[in-house]
Parts: sequence; structure tokens; C-alpha cells
Amino acid sequence: MKTVQVNIVTPDGPVYDSEVAMVIAKTISGEIGVLPGHIPLVSPLSIGGVELKDANGKSEFVAVSGGFIEVRPEKVSILAPSAEVASSIDLARAQEAKARAEERLKMKNDEIDFQRAELALRRAMNRINVHEGNV
Ligand code: ATP
Repeated sequence: MKTVQVNIVTPDGPVYDSEVAMVIAKTISGEIGVLPGHIPLVSPLSIGGVELKDANGKSEFVAVSGGFIEVRPEKVSILAPSAEVASSIDLARAQEAKARAEERLKMKNDEIDFQRAELALRRAMNRINVHEGNV
């Protein structure tokens, strides 16, 4: 079976590097499924889970907090401000971040605080979902 090399990189370093049979990622304009030999494309990513399917159909999940995906026929690169493989997600930390963001959203703040809290909430919920395998 054909495979494609996938790299997920953050400013803190590489998070994932493996050969996979399929990548499913959430771009800002919708979900894309990438198989080996895909035509080149670059797209911004949403805060969401990336699914990486190996040649046996087994999936691994990585939480990414936005960034970009670059697809080439033989390689997929994801550059994200932060990313965690499901097994490295600290669930308690994500739950605390979610509660903090929800508290901030309840307060009457300016627009900037509101947007920051909303993004923090989306990152936390994404981590919780990916940890639970809901992508
Ligand atoms: P927090 O408020 O808990 O710091 P955050 O969404 O503000 O969450 P980020 O700025 O996105 O955090 O990430 C900062 C660093 O912490 C990154 O390296 C990210 O991978 C890591 N990180 C954040 N939350 C978690 C988590 N729940 N489990 C594991 N790593 C995490």
C-alpha cells in the first residue's frame, strides 16, 4: 500500500513524523482527506483534530491549534502554533483551561478579551475531544 510522509511541527519542535496511508485534517474551508500522490495545496487549518491512518487502517489523532497544512504528492507538512498527540494531552489541564475560558466569556469584557477567551475555549475543547478520540 502507498504511504505519504507526515510531519507536524510547532515552534517547540516536531510533534509527529511518520509514514501514513491517509491524513484527514480540518482546513478553514472544510475537511480534507489526503492520500499519497495528492495534488499540491496549501491551506490554513482550523483548531481541530488531525487523523492519521496507517496502512492497517489504525488511526492516531493529533490536536492542532490552527496553522497551515502543505500537501505535496509525497509529503504532508503541518505547521501549527501548538499540537499534541492524543496520548500526550493532559486532560485535567485542558478541563481547567476550558473552565477558565468559560468564566471569562461570562464576564462583560472588551472584544479582544472575548476573542481570546473564545479561542482558548476552542483549543481546550479540541484537546478534550482528541483525548477522548472524538474527532
Ligand atoms: P493553557 O491555558 O492550559 O496553557 P493554552 O491553550 O493557552 O492552554 P497553548 O498556548 O495552546 O495553551 O499551548 C502552550 C503549550 O502547552 C504548547 O506547547 C501546548 O502543546 C501545551 N499544552 C497546552 N495545553 C495542553 C494540554 N492540555 N496537554 C498537553 N499539552 C498542552
